[in-house]
Amino acid sequence: MWHILGAGSLGMLWAARLARIGLPVQLMLRNEERLAAYRQVGGVTLVENGQTSRYPLPAQTLDNPAPIQRLLLACKAYDAEAAVAQIAPRLMAGAELILLQNGLGSQAAVAAQVPGVRCILASSTEGAYRDGDWRVVFAGHGHTWLGDPLALEPPPWLGELSRSGITHDWSLDIVGRLWRKLALNCAINPLTVLYDCRNGGLDEHPAEVATLCLELRELLHTCGQAAAAEGLHDEVLRVIHATAANYSSMHQDVAHGRRTEVAYLLGYACAAAQRHRCTLPHLEALHRRLLDHLHARGLPSQ
Ligand code: NAP
Repeated sequence: MWHILGAGSLGMLWAARLARIGLPVQLMLRNEERLAAYRQVGGVTLVENGQTSRYPLPAQTLDNPAPIQRLLLACKAYDAEAAVAQIAPRLMAGAELILLQNGLGSQAAVAAQVPGVRCILASSTEGAYRDGDWRVVFAGHGHTWLGDPLALEPPPWLGELSRSGITHDWSLDIVGRLWRKLALNCAINPLTVLYDCRNGGLDEHPAEVATLCLELRELLHTCGQAAAAEGLHDEVLRVIHATAANYSSMHQDVAHGRRTEVAYLLGYACAAAQRHRCTLPHLEALHRRLLDHLHARGLPSQ
């Protein structure tokens, strides 16, 4: 059974793909109100390549007493710790948690709450968004890396992902991958918010991007992530050009007045730098500017 906590973009995307090859899936919703709203609609809808399919998946609230062996945690990083605290008593001995959260920080906070549970970390380049309640649009095919920093052995169910069309690899350095993605995010997303531009708009700020990449490289080296630092600036430029027409996820969050995951991205990077007494003036100034910007729009900085 795949228990999936959070029927948001990624949660529904995973649920629909697992269910359509006949795997048992159980959605886990926030509360009775959300469950009642879901039951009125009766299923999740996946829009892929212009085609719409509906999946009448079972759902329950977090406080349902049934035990859980495998849980995909598909909420935002800032919701992860509280969500896991709520379902922790339901996790069986030897249970597995798959953590889809972007950035760093939430995974360690979750793992500390559930000793004895195997936490598998994921980093995904897939793109999905909700165009209505219980509807997800699969906007960008991508790849998902999964890994366990504490055990190299892959779990036995990776074949289920292959059969579901969830393209993935087992990574022996998932923390390095998460750091690399975090660094790319720090070099691009905050600037797109501050300049209110698409990713391609950063072409007009090459010196700022280059300076941030230098500091991010220094941070990665300081944090023992030398491999994640390699060729960072080149990849940042490649991403900026390949996604020139897109608005970054952080830009979209701010534009829609939604809370961002800044605390697990640039916030995490700056906290790590401070912990290591590594002075990164441009990264810290960027963080301050971003927090001021969020504050001015009434958005949380955490
Ligand atoms: P999302 O669309 O906002 O979905 C999050 C879902 O979690 C929401 O449906 C929310 O419920 C639910 N949730 C939060 N707390 C809960 C709780 N205690 N119990 C039950 N449900 C709870 O977010 P997302 O875009 O799927 O992103 C999830 C994570 O994946 C993020 O860290 C994101 O950065 C990462 N990611 C996303 C994408 C993408 O394309 N979307 C790509 C790569 C990585 P409500 O609906 O009730 O608020």
